[in-house]
Amino acid sequence: MNTVSIMAHADDEMRCLGALLKCRARGDRLYFVTVTDGSKGFVQRPEIERAEAAAIRHAEMSALAAAAGGEYINLGEPDEFLYDTPEVRMKLIEAIRQAGAELIFTHYHEDYNADHIAVNRLVHHCAMQASLPVLPTASAPLAAPPAIFQCEPFGAIHFPASYYVDISAYHEEKVRLLLHHASQETAMQMAVGSGFAGLCERPEAFRGEQAGCRYAEAFIPMPGRGTIKPYPVLP
Ligand SMILES: [Zn+2]
Repeated sequence: MNTVSIMAHADDEMRCLGALLKCRARGDRLYFVTVTDGSKGFVQRPEIERAEAAAIRHAEMSALAAAAGGEYINLGEPDEFLYDTPEVRMKLIEAIRQAGAELIFTHYHEDYNADHIAVNRLVHHCAMQASLPVLPTASAPLAAPPAIFQCEPFGAIHFPASYYVDISAYHEEKVRLLLHHASQETAMQMAVGSGFAGLCERPEAFRGEQAGCRYAEAFIPMPGRGTIKPYPVLP
């Protein structure tokens, strides 16, 4: 299966990376798509130029994707100012086709960050359009719409999880991979007082307790045309 994380920013794959690694173990090919350039992620250097910040984020995400054995597609939209435009839709439709997406993980429809919500809506629309020939792009339309699962958001947002993936065997590798985002480890320590280890440990242990394992990631299927499958897709 071709399994794709579609997120607003590099490091947002944090809430599905364990499931992605478990998908890889069953033979899936992994793709990481980020819609923005991540250039507003430097809490520690607010004066940094957009191009320099974007280059650092791109290098970090590329290193993570390579280490995870996946491919990275960066759509390069302006961080913190992502809007649903015809150009962004066409870029995302092409990325979904390029990956041959069969399973997508993306943001939940409620979130603290407007870019995340924009990506949720874009994926909802573009995943369906990716299988239709009416919007031609460089790659051929998908044979069928992909299955889509929404990931748990940060903070005080109600997330009625309905699917759980036991990632106990992948927790350590996941945290190690996320540390490729060195700039964000620093930024998050400054912004929320916790790095990747803490940000993964707490929700995964909580969801693991609910699911009867040590560490789990939790998901909600995204209803849409063809996005709910009559066969199991999660590992
Ligand atoms: Zn984000």
